[in-house]
Amino acid sequence: MNLNEYDLSQWQVATVVSNERITPRGDAEVRHIVLEVSGEQLDYVEGQSIAVIVRGPHDFGNPNHLRLYSIASPRNGEKGHLGAFSLCVRRCFYIDDVSGERYPGVASNYLCDLEPGDPVQIAGPYGSRFLVPTDENANLLMIGVGTGIAPFRAFIQHIYEERGGWKGAVRLFYGARTGLDLLYMNDVNKDFSLYYSEKTFRAFEAVSQRPAVDAEADMERVFAGNQHEIWELVKDPRTYVYLAGLTNVAVQFEKAMVQAAGSEAAWQAKRAELIDQGRYSELLYE
Ligand SMILES: Cc1cc2nc3c(=O)[nH]c(=O)nc-3n(C[C@H](O)[C@H](O)[C@H](O)COP(=O)(O)OP(=O)(O)OC[C@H]3O[C@@H](n4cnc5c(N)ncnc54)[C@H](O)[C@@H]3O)c2cc1C
Repeated sequence: MNLNEYDLSQWQVATVVSNERITPRGDAEVRHIVLEVSGEQLDYVEGQSIAVIVRGPHDFGNPNHLRLYSIASPRNGEKGHLGAFSLCVRRCFYIDDVSGERYPGVASNYLCDLEPGDPVQIAGPYGSRFLVPTDENANLLMIGVGTGIAPFRAFIQHIYEERGGWKGAVRLFYGARTGLDLLYMNDVNKDFSLYYSEKTFRAFEAVSQRPAVDAEADMERVFAGNQHEIWELVKDPRTYVYLAGLTNVAVQFEKAMVQAAGSEAAWQAKRAELIDQGRYSELLYE
């Protein structure tokens, strides 16, 4: 959906409950932001996103700046508080091709600078394809990088806390540039470690081999090292595949799957089958 097509008449005001940096000091700043809606409740499910509206005027005559963010909390709310939900936001900067100047991204910097008590205009929730299946015997293959972890935090909390007793295999392949950038799995925030004792859950982390030169997470290596298990899961008719975060993660996953399937055609056929059966979902952004 084009961002201009979002119906902004249906917005509501949320209030910031907390805004905490979850990456240690350094260049990559990611924040866990808890918002709360009062009165009208925000009725969402895991995997959906909300739109944040930053009223203008902005550059290029743009009256409103609208950006989508994945909800990182399960449906019953952040830490069980109905009406409270969290976002995981990376502070973005861009280099202008012509001037070479560095510009702050509008919505991400607006969100990262918010303080408790501040109002935020939001709309949504949006998205109806990146959803947890109802069958607790389903296997979940979750693949993400960076802030793509947000929907998976919601998934994991929903299946193990709100529902309980998930029987299918749950596998998370997650990458970041450095160990400190592994969101919700670093020294500042360890939310995922609460579920490492669940029998059906396993997490695989990938960090860059060359963090000093800003190289990306080494997802190819973690895919290659676990190719057999991933491929067995992909072939299992009870498996749902989810890809989230920067678009490049899909390219790397595809490379690994072409190798596992034996040919590009064999992987494309398998992928088409998964899509047909509603078992392959992507939530990718630049
Ligand atoms: C479904 C979905 C879910 C998402 N979930 C998350 C999430 O959970 N967490 C998260 O952090 N992000 C998420 N995103 C990305 C998020 O929506 C924004 O795209 C991101 O935060 C950047 O927005 P911004 O307003 O800060 O930057 P913008 O201001 O929109 O800048 C973005 C683009 O504009 C260009 N640009 C910006 N400023 C200038 C300038 N002054 N001059 C020239 N060019 C410029 C840049 O090249 C860049 O391509 C998601 C995206 C989608 C589609």
